[in-house]
Amino acid sequence: MTVDRIQPWISTPLVESAHLSKLAGCSRIFLKLENLQPSGSFKSRGIGNYLLCRIRECDASGKQPHFYASSGGNAGIACVVAARSLGYPASVVVPTTTSPALVARLREEGAHNVYQHGQSVMDADKYLRSTILPRDDNGIYVPPFDHPDVWDGNATVMNEIAAQLSYEQPDLVVCSVGGGGLMNGIMQSLDDLKWSDKTSVLAMETDGADSLDQALKAKQLVKLDKITSRARSLGVATVSAKTFEYAQRPQVSNAVLSDAQAARGCLLMARHERLMVELTAGVAAALCEDGQLQRFSGRRLDRDSKVVLLICGGNDISVDMLMEWQKY
Ligand SMILES: *Cc1c(COP(=O)(O)O)cnc(C)c1O
Repeated sequence: MTVDRIQPWISTPLVESAHLSKLAGCSRIFLKLENLQPSGSFKSRGIGNYLLCRIRECDASGKQPHFYASSGGNAGIACVVAARSLGYPASVVVPTTTSPALVARLREEGAHNVYQHGQSVMDADKYLRSTILPRDDNGIYVPPFDHPDVWDGNATVMNEIAAQLSYEQPDLVVCSVGGGGLMNGIMQSLDDLKWSDKTSVLAMETDGADSLDQALKAKQLVKLDKITSRARSLGVATVSAKTFEYAQRPQVSNAVLSDAQAARGCLLMARHERLMVELTAGVAAALCEDGQLQRFSGRRLDRDSKVVLLICGGNDISVDMLMEWQKY
């Protein structure tokens, strides 16, 4: 991929956590802090790169792009933040069930328009494609995860990790899977680095947002009827075909934890790393408890093993949520 002078994402810290390493007891734990991205999630990379690619095409054709995303969360924020930083307008369609706080956030970040339509992100997406986009000749649709340009952008996170580890190969990389755009990027980068034989990948989901796990069990892509997990950024009905393919490699394993376990992971991150992260990141941190990392990793780990946890985002979290979870 090529990167322009202005990039809508930053290089984030990779920090070794003494506390989580001690708790896990089986390896050195490194945290890749994607919650620090300008949009609060790794989506600044994938969606940012998608925007850059489209802007380059528009420069060639003289079109002035207006970007549109349908999302009740991080994809919408990433689209608006990236488009604004590059100097282009972006609008978002969210379902009517979206919290007023999130709508306010999208406006604050500089959304040109925030439309509310339908009961689910899927309804909002249909409305965007059928009604809003046809009205705007300059409109460009921004997909949340299922596009090669999104994967190229997400791949930069693994390239960065490799450099930050001075090209010492990690034993395991843990990421969460919604539609699988993040995992596709990671796999792509591991292949480019020729690391995919020795570095294992563990794909995490929460109960009720487990479209990858169900697909693997059914041996074909499945569509979840209903998303019941509170980890909203994992709430995608069907994973990308590419993710399903990658997940069948022997070096890739997957696990599903409950929202309650993911919440414990968020509390670990708050208490010991002093970071507020969302359930999708908590689900990776939660592995450090109760020997789960060893159990789910699919390989033998020892004290010198290097495990990288993708701390993918920190938007859908509040002090109130952490206080509530603390009671259980
Ligand atoms: C989007 C998102 C995910 C899921 O990513 P996919 O590319 O859809 O698999 C996980 N965590 C956070 C914080 C996200 O924003």
